[in-house]
Amino acid sequence: MAEHEASAADRLIRGVVGKLEDLQRAGVSHLGKPALAKARSPSASPHQQLLPLGLGGGASPSQAESREDRTAALADVARQVAACVRCAELARTRLQTVFGSGNPRARLVFMGEAPGADEDRQGLPFVGRAGQLLTDIIVKGLRMRREDVYILNILKCRPPGNRTPLPAEAANCREYLDRQLEIIRPEFICCLGAVAAQNLLGVGTSIGQLRGRVLNYEGIKVVCTHHPAYLLRNPAAKRPMWEDLQVLMSAMGLPTPKK
Ligand code: URA
Repeated sequence: MAEHEASAADRLIRGVVGKLEDLQRAGVSHLGKPALAKARSPSASPHQQLLPLGLGGGASPSQAESREDRTAALADVARQVAACVRCAELARTRLQTVFGSGNPRARLVFMGEAPGADEDRQGLPFVGRAGQLLTDIIVKGLRMRREDVYILNILKCRPPGNRTPLPAEAANCREYLDRQLEIIRPEFICCLGAVAAQNLLGVGTSIGQLRGRVLNYEGIKVVCTHHPAYLLRNPAAKRPMWEDLQVLMSAMGLPTPKK
């Protein structure tokens, strides 16, 4: 290697190591897909290295994979989540982790921010007041059953006092979210609120700008809307949310009744 090439390579390596040390100082102990997607090769997924799951030696699961296979693969990840202590504060203060629930072959995933007190107690996502509203949205709005969709959060632990998840916490949890999406392989994701939308998409754009249209995340169609908890505090947000749901329903080929 020529001398100038060697020093350029050294500079690059020092830069990457410096960036990783910055992240480590900020509390990030694991990197998920957004940071690594461009760097990794398909045959050497960092997730396979970190989390050997029951999906078979890195082979990409086919559409025909059974519900039972996916349930088992999700249960594997859920066990790893239950034992996770990557975020010391969350691991200390949570009652239990909240992995997600629903149909492992769902076409549609609803993605929230993080468990609240009710979810922390029950170990299930969206079971409090906001969860009841989400159920209404699914049943009365989309005319689907709650058990037909899959519901999960960016973070699997309740942040103390329901504070907003820290970027380092979302980064630590990202690997689990990525695995859930790899196993379920939904056609659609509905992001509930800015935290879910910005974390999934890796952007800082406001929910006002993200909502109301179909976006793309790794081939999955994404519709962002307000969080149900925001709707409980601001009933005027009902109309824009209904418009967002109509965008989603039309993309999914579902009938869109007027409301
Ligand atoms: N809010 C969320 O974002 N997720 C839940 O599971 C409950 C409330």
